[in-house]
Amino acid sequence: MKQIQMVDLYGQYFKIKEEIDSAIQGVLDSSAFINGPDVKLFQEELAEYMDCKHVITCGNGTDALQVSLMALDLKPGDEIITTPYSFIASIEVIRLLDLVPVLVDIRPDTFNIDDNLIERAITKKTRAILPVHLFGQCARSETIMEIADKYGLYVIEDAAQALGADYIFKNGKSKKAGTIGTIGCTSFFPSKNLGCFGDGGAIFTDDEGLAKSLYSIINHGMSEKYYYEHIGVNSRLDSLQAAVLRVKLKYLDDYIQARTVAASFYNTEFDTYAQVRTPVTVDYSSHIYHQYTIELFGPDRDGLQSYLKANEIPSMIYYPKPLHLQKAYLDLNYKEGELPVAEELSQNVLSLPIHTELDEEQLRYITQHIIQYIVKE
Ligand SMILES: *Cc1c(COP(=O)(O)O)cnc(C)c1O
Repeated sequence: MKQIQMVDLYGQYFKIKEEIDSAIQGVLDSSAFINGPDVKLFQEELAEYMDCKHVITCGNGTDALQVSLMALDLKPGDEIITTPYSFIASIEVIRLLDLVPVLVDIRPDTFNIDDNLIERAITKKTRAILPVHLFGQCARSETIMEIADKYGLYVIEDAAQALGADYIFKNGKSKKAGTIGTIGCTSFFPSKNLGCFGDGGAIFTDDEGLAKSLYSIINHGMSEKYYYEHIGVNSRLDSLQAAVLRVKLKYLDDYIQARTVAASFYNTEFDTYAQVRTPVTVDYSSHIYHQYTIELFGPDRDGLQSYLKANEIPSMIYYPKPLHLQKAYLDLNYKEGELPVAEELSQNVLSLPIHTELDEEQLRYITQHIIQYIVKE
């Protein structure tokens, strides 16, 4: 059996090595390392895939979020409603801009922000909602958009884990995660569903004015060469990364399919075990399984993790501590017990290996060991 990994970047690269190598060689030959033709072409191709008007690529997913907030007319002290159960970037950028993250607990089914709790968190200072489409499944975006419309708020979607997921509206129409709100953000970190070979990110919007500001802000706030209209940052996607992403974008739907096959295998194997709750699927979103995260009822999570490790099965805890209890953010003054769903999940979740290269032998080996452990306990 091949060694099991959380993600198998080499295996994925190896299958399309020739195409990737020649795309990289093309950039080397042209030496158009910054803003080369691949960047523009990738933006166009991704806009077509996403069915959105403007794609602005940038240096990474965290910058995508930061630049999005910078492009909106926000001022220090303005409040942004978001989730306590995410990667740190989601609240980090809010704090960096002297904005205030207001954390709303998550839904126990999808682990996404609880749309039923958003309205009561709105104050006079609230300016935006920043939902994170966690683990590859959309937050309840139609309800979030209705609330945003009612109170005149912006919506910035963090689709770093959900690129390619579909949100299905009540009328049957669908939109890609990241193209529903005012602005959407994603990341091309290597382990993301569409990963490049370094750092990369992108921003989505249908608003032409915003697209112009976003494009300017990632280029030092420049309007025309050496004239600056905004305070900006330097955050561009390299031509080399764009060239890699142009190749890999063609395979994104296949990658999602391969992850779905692995997830279905897990689902079927765990089906009869009440000790394991497999990821909940919902009728308003597809799931692209950026993570396959189970919730344990009864079995000792850390014991299981050690047992798996001893058997050379990696696993991860996303996330071991919700954001409101992180040391750097204690000044937000949240107390333990205040966001109970997020806090409880952080004690009971375990993310299993999921990627495009898992084979059935590996999947069987993983599930057999998990079942052995939970039955014994
Ligand atoms: C990965 C990730 C980011 C940040 O992306 P980087 O490209 O690593 O900066 C932001 N939000 C979420 C939810 C993520 O998973």
